[in-house]
Amino acid sequence: MKVTDKVSSVGRGDYQFNKLPQNNKIIAEYVWIGGRGLDIRSKSRTLDIPKIKSLSDIPEWNYDGSSTFQASGHDSEILLKPRVFYPDPFRLGNNILVLCDTWKPDGTPTNTNFRSECLKVMNKAAHEEPWFGFEQEYVLYRNDTYPHRPLGFPEGGYPAPQGPYYCSVGGGCAFGRQIMEAHYRCCLYTGISISGTNSEVFPGQWEFQIGPVTGIHLGDQVWMARYLLLRVAEHYGTSVNWECKPVIGEWNGSGCHANFSTNSTRREGGIQTIYNYIEKLREKHMYCIDGYGKDNAKRLSGTCETSNINTFSFGVADRGASIRIPRVTANDGKGYFEDRRPASNSDPYVVSALLTDVTVLDGNSTEELHDRYVSFLTSIRPIII
Ligand code: ADP
Ligand code: MN
Ligand code: MN
Ligand code: MN
Repeated sequence: MKVTDKVSSVGRGDYQFNKLPQNNKIIAEYVWIGGRGLDIRSKSRTLDIPKIKSLSDIPEWNYDGSSTFQASGHDSEILLKPRVFYPDPFRLGNNILVLCDTWKPDGTPTNTNFRSECLKVMNKAAHEEPWFGFEQEYVLYRNDTYPHRPLGFPEGGYPAPQGPYYCSVGGGCAFGRQIMEAHYRCCLYTGISISGTNSEVFPGQWEFQIGPVTGIHLGDQVWMARYLLLRVAEHYGTSVNWECKPVIGEWNGSGCHANFSTNSTRREGGIQTIYNYIEKLREKHMYCIDGYGKDNAKRLSGTCETSNINTFSFGVADRGASIRIPRVTANDGKGYFEDRRPASNSDPYVVSALLTDVTVLDGNSTEELHDRYVSFLTSIRPIII
């Protein structure tokens, strides 16, 4: 069977207009998470200022929450609170992207806003300076075959079995490189700490790594990097699938491995603290799994480089375990470990908060966050974005 996919720029977002002067005004693109959790939304606003110097230069704003599954029509306004701003890699100049979190009129967070609870955990654990490195996997599709046929899949069938696609080079096995490349550059331009990328085991699947970054910055940067990927994919006429098991069977799913370290694990002999953390994670295995994304049971099958969702395990260099201790950490007797359980569709604010609470804090600082996330997951209807 022949692979017919050709990916090319479809000219969405004609960036030649970026060269025009803006009369001392800038465009701020407000970015937020919609009511289904992975439906990132954004809208633009002109600010009458030539350059933004600090967050306080950016006004709060609002949107129609009844169109994002977050409010009813008769009281529809959801408040946007700016949290971080980045230079805009699409509009260039002094234009910015503004990552916001979202609030209901009564002052409570919306169903998908877990940032403020994450921030509380990070402040409580600040003495341990937690560092995170998240590995975001995703699968690309041409728009006209989404969500049925990933890039690299021939029409009406399957490609050659997994084997050639991981870190692949060449037209027969690497699909969608333009998108990865453009996304990589966009992340660097914005100042996001992207530490690398690679193509993955499943055809049309890629990964980017954010890290190491501290505290709340992890969640902020992963969300903004996801937004950038959606924008870049759109430009090339493609769509991103964040589901954790896009194709059932002997095909790898998508994860978001969470690499983690603290002052105590990074210092001499820190591996003892890692073993101590691992025992705490064992005790709270299901509590963490609850917060590690949707449909994760389909992915954590015990095959395809995953552990079984019902069993907690760890090992040095073991890619079939829940927790992997990298060889370098074992050799040095200090460093970081990798929690392989989080799914590609997980919320990095939730995952980083749970991981930090269970290991560094008392394990009771995320109960509300945990329960809110679980009820959010059970309330959302399946959708394709
Ligand atoms: P893998 O071998 O699992 O594919 P990757 O190279 O894709 O690993 O990702 C490893 C991630 O771990 C990177 O994001 C990197 O920045 C991060 N990392 C490295 N050192 C640390 C550390 N000490 N603490 C937390 N994260 C770290
Ligand atoms: Mn990786
Ligand atoms: Mn990977
Ligand atoms: Mn990994």
